[in-house]
Amino acid sequence: MTKEILEFKTEVNQLLDLMIHSLYSHKEVFLRELISNASDAIDKARYESLTNADIQKDGGEWKIKLSIDKAAGTLTISDNGIGMNKEEGIRELGTIARSGTMEFLAKLKEKSPDDSTEMIGQFGVGFYSSFMVADRVVLISKKAGTNDCVRWESTADGTFTVEDTEKATRGTDVILYIKEEEKEKYLTEYELRRIVTKYSDYIDYPVVMDVERQKESEIDKGKKYTVTEEEKLNSQKAIWLRDKSEITESEYNEFYKHVAHDFTDPTKVIHYKAEGTTEFTALLFIPSRMPFDIFYKDFKYGPMLYVRRVQIMEHCEELIPQYLRFVKGVVDSSDLPLNVSREILQNNRQIEVINKNLTKKVSDSLSDMKQNEFDKYLGFYKQFGRILKEGIHFSYEKRETVADLLLFSSTATETGKYTTLKDYTANMKEDQKDIYYMTATDFEDAIHSPYLETFKEKGYEVLILLDEIDDMIFTGFQYGDKDFKSALRGDITLDKAKEEEKKESEKKYKKLLDLISTRLKGDVKEARFSGRLKDSPCCLVGDEGAMDANMERLFRSMGKDVPNTKKIFELNPTHPLIEAMNELFEHDQKSEKLPKYIDMLYNQALVLEGSRPKDSQLFASMVSELMVKDMKST
Ligand code: ADP
Ligand code: MG
Repeated sequence: MTKEILEFKTEVNQLLDLMIHSLYSHKEVFLRELISNASDAIDKARYESLTNADIQKDGGEWKIKLSIDKAAGTLTISDNGIGMNKEEGIRELGTIARSGTMEFLAKLKEKSPDDSTEMIGQFGVGFYSSFMVADRVVLISKKAGTNDCVRWESTADGTFTVEDTEKATRGTDVILYIKEEEKEKYLTEYELRRIVTKYSDYIDYPVVMDVERQKESEIDKGKKYTVTEEEKLNSQKAIWLRDKSEITESEYNEFYKHVAHDFTDPTKVIHYKAEGTTEFTALLFIPSRMPFDIFYKDFKYGPMLYVRRVQIMEHCEELIPQYLRFVKGVVDSSDLPLNVSREILQNNRQIEVINKNLTKKVSDSLSDMKQNEFDKYLGFYKQFGRILKEGIHFSYEKRETVADLLLFSSTATETGKYTTLKDYTANMKEDQKDIYYMTATDFEDAIHSPYLETFKEKGYEVLILLDEIDDMIFTGFQYGDKDFKSALRGDITLDKAKEEEKKESEKKYKKLLDLISTRLKGDVKEARFSGRLKDSPCCLVGDEGAMDANMERLFRSMGKDVPNTKKIFELNPTHPLIEAMNELFEHDQKSEKLPKYIDMLYNQALVLEGSRPKDSQLFASMVSELMVKDMKST
């Protein structure tokens, strides 16, 4: 029965520090967090009790109880849920297991207190928020179905203690030693009642509190005496089963915050009941802000799955496609068996039907928002567009639906304005066959890049795609009967005249072109004349079907091996440089200047592509040399 003193992991200390010193507003949410944990714990116990005879209800109903002890200065939150043993106490309340926590907290530190309150909402404040109102927290817990108990205690000074203890009933008591200055607030019945109805009214289990009532004596009429009665503080109605017309916006919002562990209101609520062969109720939310860990591998998504009001799973990935993984909420099915397992879910007809149905509802709702509340949609899109568009690549069936939800910047849009594929295709020039796009890391760089010169000349609009995954998403995509074509790849010659010009130049400069090809043999696949350039002398393009420079950079940054596919070196036949170089070549085929200038030309193409010159130092010294010559000659 020894007491162990353990240290919090760094990320817990950082979080505690923030809780205690930076977050001043909304301290009362600590109660929501603790009640939510209690409710989660009961969900787990209730679910386990379906299959595990050892977890019987040891007397009484499932419930969460608040007790005030004014003399001791404590508020206790008790539940008869799953409980914890010592190991779990150390693991769950000594570390934060979510990946990305450290990065997140580091980012948070740079923000002003106001912004950090907002940001921390994405993170979910959880158990540690108790320390916003308490200077000491003691937790006594008994793991359901066992005799393992733990007493956990901390004053948030960097350490916590755990020791064995005894507890009569299953579940957890969280005892908060309320800070002096908060006592008036959090040790009064009235305040607690208010906070519970505000944040936790829909909790599935009764949240009760002992309250003192004056009663009149039955025997001695007129004489009053005091009784202590347990009173339920919440209405306990599963919000998703209530009638839509009776639910206020703020009730929806609070419920969202409970399920999503978010601080900010959702951008859209989707609430409906499906009837027919598959019956279920769905209450879904589209968040207004991206969870910080959505791009991590272990990010858990999918609505909560309930079967006839019993929670079966916290995140049911089978219910929603990956590209809608930002959607949060609850699905309550009337048809599934209560003991449904992961394996069953994976090939279940009902689940498939629900998935289809939810997918349609969400995309209809997004489409509606795009039509009727564009500003709101834009806000959504800036957060989640990147995820949404994965649907193009991963969902063959829905790719057109997803495509119509996308917004694009292009060579024809003003800054801050967007176009859609519908508009793009409607505005296509008569002789334009394909939808052109260019991937880039910077919009301004892109629109001034040499790759777009001939498009500009022809008046063709080019979509500028700035997300790293764009090339993967749009390669090979067809919208209606129009192909997506990268402006950076393949042979792009938009009209007949250019085609002729190219052919003529190929004849005229054949020998020079051969020399260039030979000189750059190790670096490029071939050298050829270009149909896409107007003002710039040269550029590098990918082979049709090759990976573009953006993607290559992305893969390299992820530590992946990228095969060194050689680019094609394209030259502008109408650029004076080519003519000049050819004159030099005809005059003196052995001139030392030729290989030097070919290298320079190649380096320019690298720079224009957004890469580094092959030998930066050499390139710079050659440019300087030319500058000196030029200045001396004038
Ligand atoms: P979250 O609820 O998002 O997991 P918290 O910080 O609120 O994060 O809680 C951390 C963990 O501590 C929970 O995941 C759970 O394992 C454990 N825990 C907290 N409160 C209780 C409780 N009342 N009963 C059982 N386990 C609990
Ligand atoms: Mg929690």
